[in-house]
Amino acid sequence: VGNLTKHFPVRGGLTGPKPVARAVDGVSFSVAKGETLGVVGESGCGKSTTARLLMRLIEPDGGDIVFDGETVGTRSGLSLRELRRRMQMVFQDSYASLNPRLTIADSLAFAPMVHGVSRRDATAVAGDLLGRVGLDPGTFMGRYPHELSGGQRQRVNIARALALRPRLVILDEAVSALDKSVEAQVLNLLVELKRQLDLTYIFISHDLNVVHYISDRVLVMYLGKVAEVGPVEAIYGRPAHPYTRALFSARLSMDPDERTAAAPLQGDPPNPINPPSGCRFRTRCPHATGVCAEREPVPMDLGGGHIVACHLHDSASGHPEAHAYA
Ligand code: SF4
Ligand code: MG
Repeated sequence: VGNLTKHFPVRGGLTGPKPVARAVDGVSFSVAKGETLGVVGESGCGKSTTARLLMRLIEPDGGDIVFDGETVGTRSGLSLRELRRRMQMVFQDSYASLNPRLTIADSLAFAPMVHGVSRRDATAVAGDLLGRVGLDPGTFMGRYPHELSGGQRQRVNIARALALRPRLVILDEAVSALDKSVEAQVLNLLVELKRQLDLTYIFISHDLNVVHYISDRVLVMYLGKVAEVGPVEAIYGRPAHPYTRALFSARLSMDPDERTAAAPLQGDPPNPINPPSGCRFRTRCPHATGVCAEREPVPMDLGGGHIVACHLHDSASGHPEAHAYA
């Protein structure tokens, strides 16, 4: 994903340029085959918008998405139909994403049938998928969504996402609505399915412990930008961005080495319609100085793919506390 951008028009601005909310503003990252990329950040930071842009549920204003070596959406590249076969999404609300008037079997068979699979074969696929997510096909095929628990419905949603044999599954707060014990079961199911089916995940969550458990790498977003990205051990063990440190200071870790000393975050993120100049975190950052208002930090690689966008880590930035990492 390179320089992905989406600005939503907002009301107001009778004179002058039309105001926009900079929901996703030049976001770049990659996901390797077979890995789980966790995505964290406060609500409104652009996590879900990024996911919807990847799926092309909404059109980006700019930037590139390359999937399996093919550029998405260009004439010679990957068609949206093919993209949505290879890339699937599971949402938080297990009830809203299932048609209440369709049986579980019909919900699961629907996508394969749209893609030309016969009803008979699609029903067989549905039975197989239910078995994979730990629901007995004989019991569940004929049931309706309201007859299932939240955990069972989310298993059906996961099964449905897998019906077209995708390569990449985007999970947007997919376990957030579940009770803790059910959440653990569904997480373990996701890990097992990933192994069995050779999947790649983008796992979006506000729950830092869950992201720590499931992710290989972690992307931290703030106000439409990437603050920091890197291997899970680096992000949790040596968070380098003041935002990540503040975000994590509220997290209870069992590992004393992972406890960070930063002060917790105060207040809400600024309005994405009028984001701060320079570094977007500067209005809440204890290290903010003149250069932070003047210049947007350039992402720096601290080594091992641990990348942070903060003037503290750029010895050429002119920030008085800048360490010499280069
Ligand atoms: Fe804080 Fe400046 Fe770093 Fe932004 S660039 S996080 S304001 S020190
Ligand atoms: Mg969201």
